Amino acid sequence: MELSLATFLQDSPRPFTATERELISQAFDFAQNAHEGQVRFSGEPYFSHVYETARYLLTRNLDAETIAAGFLHDVPEDTAITIEEIEKKFGGDIAFLVRGVTKLAQVRYQHTPESQTENLRKMLLATAEDIRVVLIKLADRYHNMQTLSAVPADKQYRIARETLEIYAPLAHRLGIGELKGQLEDLAFPYVLPKEHERLVKESGPHYNALTEYLARVMPHIRTELQKEGVFPLSINSRAKHLYSLYKKLLKEDKELDKIYDIAAVRIIVSDVAQCYRTLGAIHTLFKPLPGRIKDYIAMPKPNGYQSLHTTVFCLEGRIIEIQIRTQQMHEEAENGIAAHWAYSESGKPKKGALLAHNKLNWVTQLREWQNTPLGSDEFLESLKIDFFKNRIFVFTPTGDVIDLPEGATPIDFAYQIHSDIGDHCSGARVNQKMVSLNTILKNGDIVEIITQKNKMPNKSWLTLAKTSSARTKIRANLKKRGVFGFFNRS
Ligand code: MN
Repeated sequence: MELSLATFLQDSPRPFTATERELISQAFDFAQNAHEGQVRFSGEPYFSHVYETARYLLTRNLDAETIAAGFLHDVPEDTAITIEEIEKKFGGDIAFLVRGVTKLAQVRYQHTPESQTENLRKMLLATAEDIRVVLIKLADRYHNMQTLSAVPADKQYRIARETLEIYAPLAHRLGIGELKGQLEDLAFPYVLPKEHERLVKESGPHYNALTEYLARVMPHIRTELQKEGVFPLSINSRAKHLYSLYKKLLKEDKELDKIYDIAAVRIIVSDVAQCYRTLGAIHTLFKPLPGRIKDYIAMPKPNGYQSLHTTVFCLEGRIIEIQIRTQQMHEEAENGIAAHWAYSESGKPKKGALLAHNKLNWVTQLREWQNTPLGSDEFLESLKIDFFKNRIFVFTPTGDVIDLPEGATPIDFAYQIHSDIGDHCSGARVNQKMVSLNTILKNGDIVEIITQKNKMPNKSWLTLAKTSSARTKIRANLKKRGVFGFFNRS
């Protein structure tokens, strides 16, 4: 397949300005030249990977800079061209995005307990510093998962597991439901091959029967709703993602035919008032199952999801789930925060008037920022991730994540690992360079502590340590050795 800029731009949901087009064109050419001659495991040119990464961002309506950074995301990592050269050619903002993705690539993942994976996710968000970096990383991972079958078997499991435990939850947290479901389904057969095979076999007939049933039911629902004076924008159905079905079966320990949302009918209407009106009409037409009506419009899910859900006895007495939402809610459920870059017909960013129920919820925060004009400094500033403002996340040389307060030094790190390591700490390497013990650690640093048996804490360490736990341990050691008593009196 010929990968040309013209073909690429055909997939854009909106027209670009001449400046945007020029930027994308330059990034396209630059990446194509930089990756010249490189091939993927599949034998395809390496450029096809960055092309698909950028294309995902394009189809999600992201800004031209993010699309350009999508093209360039593997250049510093995989070619002789440096990030400085990218900065010179494309400017600081794009270099910032590319640098962010490169930094994330260095985050090593190992199988860690659940508490650690949560830290790792937080760390990824904090390291990224800008939501767009995370979106590029997710687009990158999505294409890598689509082409995973060509990768050597020993790598497949690790990559798929990382996707399942880190990237799918990140997509979920950003409210990108569609991508979350796809990442999980792509990873499922590699991580749990037996379970996957069994579920495909068992659920196949259910999916088929339901699809056939829904094809008959949907026109019926439309006709009946019209009689009630309700005219939906669209009615369609969606099948539950396989991995999500797997988790539901595990969690609820249910039989397949007792899972009512294997496939659901989705009704899209014009506004919130119509959502409730449609729900009323549905309940007039079909008897609802008690306890299954969920109003996620009045009470959105923590990741911002909004919709009305109900489960009803439909035609032929079959039980099905019906979801009712506006077009905007639908886009946001599918594309999450990426929907915030979506343009309206007039070329201006869309306005959203959504309820901010949970002030701490940063997806909601992002929704409020949506009302800030795109391109203003304030808006760009708002994309910076400061949810973990006062925390930093650094690594041990084996890839464990250590969570520390801002301003923490290698001494805090050493005591966080073990008090013995703290007590005998003689030096530190950060990102493989020797540093002094008063060095302030930064997000994503890999920290290695050098110990010496005869090394002991001294009182100056008390001012170097930021965490109270480190200071307590330093004091205890000084006291034990009589040092503390001495300077306590002075
Ligand atoms: Mn990549």
